[in-house]
Order: sequence, then C-alpha cells, then structure tokens
Amino acid sequence: MKVNILTLYPEMFPGCLGYSLAGKALAEGKWSLNVVNIRDFATDNYKSVDDTPFGGGAGMVMKPEVLDAAISATWTGGPLYYLSPRGKTFVQQTAQAWAKESEMTFLCGRFEGIDERILEKWQIQEISIGDFVLSGGEPALLTMLDAVIRLLPSVMGNTDSALEESFSDGLLEYPQYTKPQVWQGRSVPEVLLSGHHANIRKWRLEQAEQITKTRRPDLWTKYLAHKN
Ligand code: SAH
Repeated sequence: MKVNILTLYPEMFPGCLGYSLAGKALAEGKWSLNVVNIRDFATDNYKSVDDTPFGGGAGMVMKPEVLDAAISATWTGGPLYYLSPRGKTFVQQTAQAWAKESEMTFLCGRFEGIDERILEKWQIQEISIGDFVLSGGEPALLTMLDAVIRLLPSVMGNTDSALEESFSDGLLEYPQYTKPQVWQGRSVPEVLLSGHHANIRKWRLEQAEQITKTRRPDLWTKYLAHKN
C-alpha cells in the first residue's frame, strides 16, 4: 500500500509508524510513504498557506490555491480523504476496508481547517478520529494508519489474532493471562489450564459477551442484532 500525506508538518511522519510492527513493515516495503509539504506549493514571498476567514471569526483558513496545487502534484488515483471532525468516525471496519486499498491520499488540516471549495472540487471524503477537536489532522492520521497497517496481508504475524481481537467479531476481547500461573496470590482461571479447547472457547466467548454487555451496551445491541 502506498500512502500519500499532505501536511504542513512532514517531520511528524513516519513518527510512531517508524517503530515496531509498522516500522518493520515500512522497512520491508510492505507499505510506503510519500510525505508532501503543503508549504512547498505556496506562491507568495512569505510562503503563506493560510488567510483570514470571509465573514470574520477566529483563526485562519488554509488557502485553496495552495492546497489545489499540492493535491494536483500528488494525487494519481485512489481514495482521497481530509482528516476532519465533521467526517464519519473511523472504526475497525474502516481499517479493514482501507487495508485492501493499494494507494490512498490524506490531507491533514491545521488552523481552523481548509477552504470548503477544495472539498467540493476534489470530491474529498472526510474522516474523523472521534468527537473531539485536535489541533491538526496528523495525530489522527497516525492513529488510523497504525490500525490499517497491522491488518495488511503479511504484516500481522499471527493472522488468527486479527479475527479474535476486539471489534472484529462485534465483541470486546476476553481477558488474557500469561505466566506465572499464580502471581501475587492471583491465579489464572482454572479452565485455561485444562487443555480442553471447546471449554476454553466457550469460556472466552462468555467472558467477551459479559464484558461487552456491561461496558458497551451500544456494541452489545448491534452484536445481538447481527447474531439473530
Ligand atoms: N474549526 C474546525 C476544527 C479545526 S482543528 C471545526 O470546528 O470543526 C484543525 C485541524 O485538525 C482540522 O483541519 C483537521 O484536519 C484536524 N482535526 C481536528 N479534529 C479532528 C478529528 N476529530 N478527526 C480528524 N481530524 C481532526
């Protein structure tokens, strides 16, 4: 997968994606990064990328002609997204869909955001990390890409873990334990030591259902609807 990123802060990338699973996959060429500095497309002597909003109000708005030149020079096809609190919320299903793409382009906003006409002209979709406001799209994009890259074919070591983890089956994950068997007087649940695979599966499903039901009634309702 090729990821194009338009940003005023290119040095923020690959950031945390240069480490661990994603970093190794990047080094191995399982995904690639093309980071474009929006400021390189500014045309005036001050290299300005923003201006005051028509109609007044606080803050600055990113200029359409600069963004247009940056997108023209970068986008060659594939989904084009603007990181935005107005967008659809990014969820695990979004990560699964994006993991199937071969090329994606992302526009990170700063200040109060971007001139609306850019979204119209380029038919850009908006995607949000959640119902809160960041100072820029970059941290949201790093988070989303982390979720996507670990799902790329050949990146995740144990593909079973992708099927069993939280959200994949509509449930939150069951409790996990490792050695030692007794730690500070706390024992691992007996069933996990039994070696009885059917019982273990049953226990894990019950736990996942109980945790989802009590902590996330919204997910639980959806899960029941799908199950029946
Ligand atoms: N004035 C805007 C917020 C601008 S925040 C509003 O009220 O909606 C500055 C930039 O941060 C935005 O252009 C966007 O790219 C990014 N951003 C802020 N919150 C975000 C979120 N929840 N998800 C994704 N991007 C976000």
